[in-house]
This record gives sequence, structure tokens and C-alpha cells, in this order.
Amino acid sequence: MRKRYAEPASVDELAALITGSPAVRVLGSRHSFNDIADSDDLLIGTSALPTDIAIDAAARTVTVGGGVRYGDLAKALDEAGWALHNLASLPHISVAGAVATATHGSGDRNGNLATAVRGIRLVTGTGEVVELRRGDAGFDGAVVALGALGVVVEVTLEIEPTFAVRQRLFAGLGWDVVADRFDDIFSAAYSVSLFTRWEEASVSLAWIKERVDEPGRVGEDFFGAVAETAPRHMIAGMDVRNTTEQLGVPGPWSERLAHFRFEFTPSAGAEIQSEYLVPRAHAVAAIDAVRALGPRLRDVLQITEIRTVAADGLWLSTASGTDVVGLHFTWVRDIPGVAAVLPAIEDALLPLGARPHWGKVFGRLDAAAMYPRLEDFRALADRFDPQARFRNAFVRRVLG
Ligand SMILES: Cc1cc2nc3c(=O)[nH]c(=O)nc-3n(C[C@H](O)[C@H](O)[C@H](O)COP(=O)(O)OP(=O)(O)OC[C@H]3O[C@@H](n4cnc5c(N)ncnc54)[C@H](O)[C@@H]3O)c2cc1C
Repeated sequence: MRKRYAEPASVDELAALITGSPAVRVLGSRHSFNDIADSDDLLIGTSALPTDIAIDAAARTVTVGGGVRYGDLAKALDEAGWALHNLASLPHISVAGAVATATHGSGDRNGNLATAVRGIRLVTGTGEVVELRRGDAGFDGAVVALGALGVVVEVTLEIEPTFAVRQRLFAGLGWDVVADRFDDIFSAAYSVSLFTRWEEASVSLAWIKERVDEPGRVGEDFFGAVAETAPRHMIAGMDVRNTTEQLGVPGPWSERLAHFRFEFTPSAGAEIQSEYLVPRAHAVAAIDAVRALGPRLRDVLQITEIRTVAADGLWLSTASGTDVVGLHFTWVRDIPGVAAVLPAIEDALLPLGARPHWGKVFGRLDAAAMYPRLEDFRALADRFDPQARFRNAFVRRVLG
């Protein structure tokens, strides 16, 4: 079927487009790496829909159009004295697109970005406008929804007073220390990420983000790793100007919590990404298993990021019911090369209970085994989208 593209300018126009097509998908900022956003017929862009950012100081919420990018939202919030609890590494992604795939940042106490959602307003497969608030029946299934329930036109997020963050990088954290003191390392700051290519004798970079309003617990060394004295990119040879300010210079959360600056081109450009979220209890076993694969990953891997995410109760969240550690892989753009190594990674991580990131490249998926509430999600999808207009090939594979 030939694909069509439309940018409705109103909710009524959007509803008419949805009910006029057998197969619809809404696009966010198009940063996913698989076919989750594909459609057999109609693709909808949200850039002509309202992009208002409305802060409710009394309720401590902000309500935004689904297509608003985190970078724009973060700037507006900070200017008004407010903050989100966390950001992904990239601020260029849309709020609704990120929330739909359980996109996350880092930090033991930080749930993924979807956990900040207090309410959504969506246009369903029947063209109806539905509002769901936290606590409503079905809300926990409708937030991380893979775009399968309809088009989210408004998202209400929790906010808190703005805060400052300083970030520092430390080189040479020993693998034995990671194994012995995993919990101490990842609880040492508001956000902790480890970057590695797996074959080094020690972790190449620990990337630490500390809130300035909390007592500092990281001194001049980080579990034996040494503080960097010049800014660094996590991928050797890449332009450090793309990254947010380092060297401990305090700045607003909006300019520190993401790794990449909003005003620059992100990451390595031509790349593929995969990520597996492993129950935290198995973090060290998962790291050991992937380390053993190191030489097999060498030719296709640019960098791995290891980070933690707090548990939540959202049905299809990759952190549903358990704290998790994310093992992320930025690959070179070599599709057959990546396809060749993924089975070994999945053989190592899936038995530990790993769930693949919804927006990145993966091979095997047994969603029924990974997500205890999958049947409830299927019922929700049948209710919101009885004609299965939003059920693209990706969602059909998830639902089995
Ligand atoms: C350089 C880079 C860095 C990244 N860093 C991180 C990271 O730090 N952490 C992390 O977890 N992920 C990360 N990602 C992955 C990314 O966050 C996810 O793929 C995310 O879904 C992208 O959001 P998007 O707006 O581009 O959505 P899209 O890719 O456009 O769409 C994703 C899904 O959301 C649905 N969707 C989009 N808009 C709506 C809407 N209005 N209503 C309903 N459904 C909608 C789409 O239909 C689709 O199913 C990164 C990606 C890149 C390219």
C-alpha cells in the first residue's frame, strides 16, 4: 500500500484522518531505530497541532502538546523556575514519542520519563477524545503504549522547583570495583552512567551528575577513578562541543541532565542503537556476560552506556515492577553486522529477565513472558482501537 503523510492542524482534523484510514501511525521526532513508528497507510505528523506549554504551579504540573520536544520544554520550565525529574541523553525527542517507548535517563531514584506523566489526552482509533488521569482505570497501560491506542495530543507531567546540577567525568574505574560495589557506585550521585567498549582493562568513563542542592558525596576520585581535567565525548574522536558542560561547572538541570546539547547535532549521527533493561538484581551477572562477548562486539560497537532506572507500575514499561540496569549499545551503521551480534547478547541477557528498549533494535521478543500485564494491554488496545488502525506490524509482533 502506498503511504500517505498528513499534518492535521486541529483535533477535529486529526480525528477525521484517523477514522478515514485503515492503518494509522503518529510520528514523534522520529528518533526510534526500528519499525515501531511504521504504518501501512497513513503517517501523521504533529507539528501543526498546538505546542502550548501550560504550567500549573499549584498542581505542580505542566501540560504540553505531545509533539513538543524535551529541549524546548526544559528551557521554558527552567525559565519559569521549574524542572522535570530527569531527561534522556538526547533532548531533541518529543514528549509523547519518548513516553510511548519508556525512554529513560539515569539514576537509582529516577523512574523513566513516562513516570512523570499525570495525565494524557488522546484521540483514539474511533476518533474519540479521551482523557486519562493517574489513578484512572487503564491509565497505567495507556502511558507507555507504543502508539497503539491513538494519538496523544496533550501530556501533563509532574514538575518540581528548578535545581542546579554539576557533572564530572572520571576515567579508569576498575571492573572489580564495579562488581563489588555496584550499589555504592550507582547510588553515589543523582545520575551515574558508565561508558565502556567492554574490552578495556577498566571502565573508560564514569559520567556523574550531582544535584547542587544535595550534599556532595563524590570527592576528587570516584571509587579509584580519576577526575577528567578536560571535557570529553563518550565516543573517542567525536566533537566534545556536542556534549553538555562538564568539569563540575554548576548549571540548570535543563543544560546538564541530557548528555547532548539541544543546539548541536546529537551523538554520532550515522548509528544504530540497542538497549536491554535487566532486573537490577542481575546487574553484575549481565555485565560479566557482555564483557565475555567483548571481542565479538569490537567491529560494530561505538560505545556502551550502563545506567540504572527505578521501578514503576506502568504495564509496558521496561522497568515495570523492578529496578533495572540498562545496557545500551551504540552501534556503527552496519545492519548485517549488528544483526550478527544481537543473538549472542540476547542469549546472555534474556535468561536474566532482560527487556529490550521499545524504540531500539532487538531480535527476540516474548512480550507475554516479559510483561505480566500484556493481556490487559491487549484489552485496552481493543477498546481504544477496535478497528486495529494503530496496530502496525511492530504492535502485532508485541501482542503475539
Ligand atoms: C541519539 C539518540 C539518543 C537517545 N537516547 C536515549 C536515552 O538516553 N534513553 C532512552 O531511553 N532512549 C534514547 N533514545 C531512543 C529514543 O528516546 C526513543 O526511540 C523515543 O521513542 C524517540 O522519541 P520520538 O519522539 O523520536 O518518537 P518516534 O521515534 O517518532 O516514535 C516512537 C513511538 O512513539 C509513538 N508516538 C510518537 N508520538 C506519539 C503521539 N503523539 N501519540 C502516541 N504515540 C506517539 C510512535 O507512533 C512510535 O510508536 C535515543 C535515540 C537517539 C537517536
